[in-house]
Amino acid sequence: MGEHYYQGNISKERYDRQLSIPGWGSEAQRRIAASRVGIAGAGGLGSPAALYLAAAGVGALVICDSHTVDISNLNRQILYSSADVGMEKTGLAQERLRGLNPEVEVERFQGRLKDENIDGIFADCDLILDCLDNLESRQMLNRYCWRTGKPLLHAGIREFYGELLLVDPPDTPCLACFLPESEKKKEGPPPVSGPVAGVLGSMQAVEALKFLGKIAPTGSMGRLLLVDLVSMSMDSVPISRRHGCPVCSPDSHINTGD
Ligand SMILES: [Zn+2]
Repeated sequence: MGEHYYQGNISKERYDRQLSIPGWGSEAQRRIAASRVGIAGAGGLGSPAALYLAAAGVGALVICDSHTVDISNLNRQILYSSADVGMEKTGLAQERLRGLNPEVEVERFQGRLKDENIDGIFADCDLILDCLDNLESRQMLNRYCWRTGKPLLHAGIREFYGELLLVDPPDTPCLACFLPESEKKKEGPPPVSGPVAGVLGSMQAVEALKFLGKIAPTGSMGRLLLVDLVSMSMDSVPISRRHGCPVCSPDSHINTGD
């Protein structure tokens, strides 16, 4: 991990309430402070995930998004306010996160992630959060993570439902093992309740902190968590490597970086 992000002493006052959790403590906090996390998508999932990771003292965040704020974003994208409509999301996110915790380094990339630019954006990240809203970008991010051996924490939301999965190449199956190969014909943006984005984005932050700090087991490692906020229940199912998966099967042309 990038030890260079963190210089000086851990702020005991700022992190007081988390440092006393059994298994956390200053060693785990130092690991968190030495970590760099990529956040692909600064929307409904990326907003709570980035806010909690900055608040918890992750050393560096790299925020990527290609959009400006639209008024229809504001039912769930809690990084932004009504006065922000029309402005670039990553600039606003950077300012808000720096204000929340000046100890955290916040970098931004305003633009669409592509095969040609993704290496330069996420190269030094220890973990990347998939907070995206389309299959094509997810598949591309998955291929990149598999090729470079970077852990990828996926979340998805629709209506009152969500899913979460931590992929750790080459030990777990990859995202392409269970995501469909092509998107169904779109009939406008998917409906979603704001707090459902809040729950799943917050779950990404919890998993990320446990994983980076080596604080506690990560229940979503290789297991797909299915969150149902109608019945208020959660299930987890192990993911199997799909035979002939174009990304992670032994005969694929993409070799993991590990
Ligand atoms: Zn796969």
